[in-house]
Amino acid sequence: MIESLEIQPWFFWVEPYEGESISHFLGRFKRANDLTSSGLGKAAGIGGTLARWEKFWFNPRPSQQELEALAKVVGIDAFRLAQMLPTMGEGMDCEPIKLCGACYAESACHLIRWQLKATRGCSRHGLRLISECPKCGAKFKIPALWIDGHCHRCFTTFAEMRKYQKPVKPT
Ligand SMILES: [Zn+2]
Ligand SMILES: [Zn+2]
Repeated sequence: MIESLEIQPWFFWVEPYEGESISHFLGRFKRANDLTSSGLGKAAGIGGTLARWEKFWFNPRPSQQELEALAKVVGIDAFRLAQMLPTMGEGMDCEPIKLCGACYAESACHLIRWQLKATRGCSRHGLRLISECPKCGAKFKIPALWIDGHCHRCFTTFAEMRKYQKPVKPT
């Protein structure tokens, strides 16, 4: 029945990658829909909170209510969105932004596990993570701004950076 239908604005939905961080996902969703952070925050009814999540500022932690509000707009369920955050009680660093170039070469995305305090390296590749461009020393931008997958200063690609990563020391 017509009256039971909720009118939703039309958005292009974006499929999340395995392990993708919320910042990276939000960046892709915004670009696919030509939205700013405040535009998307407004559409979801969570305002400026969205821009904080893009910077991994999770204090206060995203509430179930906020995740559900965002879930409606981005067309992904709140549980899946929560997987883009550190789990409850898990320590994380908002900066520096870290990267495994070998992972990025396989799947062009920033993984939330790279920002966790407990993460010592990439377990998949046995490599240490890098936290700045190995060529020019520029810090990485927040993943929401990762558009072309290269250093914004010297244009070294994230995939190329794998050859600068040192193996994780066996413990
Ligand atoms: Zn890796
Ligand atoms: Zn660089």
